[in-house]
Amino acid sequence: MSNTNIIHEIPAKQKAVAFTFDDGPHPIYTPQILEIFKEVSGKATFYMIGKHMLEHPEIVNNVVEQSHEIGNHTYSHPFLTKLSKDDCKEEIKESDSIIKKLTGQRAATFRPPYFDFNEDTVSIVQDFSYKMIGAVNMDAVDWEQPGVNHIVTKSRNHIRNGSIFLFHDGLGDRSQTVEAVRILVKELVDEGYQLVTVSELMQFTENKSY
Ligand SMILES: [Zn+2]
Repeated sequence: MSNTNIIHEIPAKQKAVAFTFDDGPHPIYTPQILEIFKEVSGKATFYMIGKHMLEHPEIVNNVVEQSHEIGNHTYSHPFLTKLSKDDCKEEIKESDSIIKKLTGQRAATFRPPYFDFNEDTVSIVQDFSYKMIGAVNMDAVDWEQPGVNHIVTKSRNHIRNGSIFLFHDGLGDRSQTVEAVRILVKELVDEGYQLVTVSELMQFTENKSY
């Protein structure tokens, strides 16, 4: 698919970036991430898996209470292009309903599992009025546990106004991610960056296509 359907960064004038965390909520790692952001009054976006939300609604509550954003990441994390259009729609719709039920509001953005999407996915995502969100630091591959230093160094190369960073707080041992995020958050705050949600970041541009 062409990159025009997915947003990896925002042409922001402000010194601001968005951290995103996929595949939670997780009872160990999500609270650790929340603590890091609480200490610096930063905000983040969590692309939660619908069925994980049902397993840990109390963590979903904590995330919402601390004014972070929750985005749609499907109900069961499938490869969407391997599903029929109807099944793909069901995956997104189910999660849309769970988010609304648990948080009281609809999600504004969507991230496809494995960044696997096609024209059908794009049209369904548009029907739900979601923006599809990518990231600038795919080469950090935090999900492969490549070492804290690798995650930090690769992500650091992409620090600029409007960057969207990808990390994971679920589906595996995420202790390397937590340590890398702790380091990056401190550096960014020291450099004067605001840590905002993806939806907030999209407000930081006059480009109306966002
Ligand atoms: Zn995922």
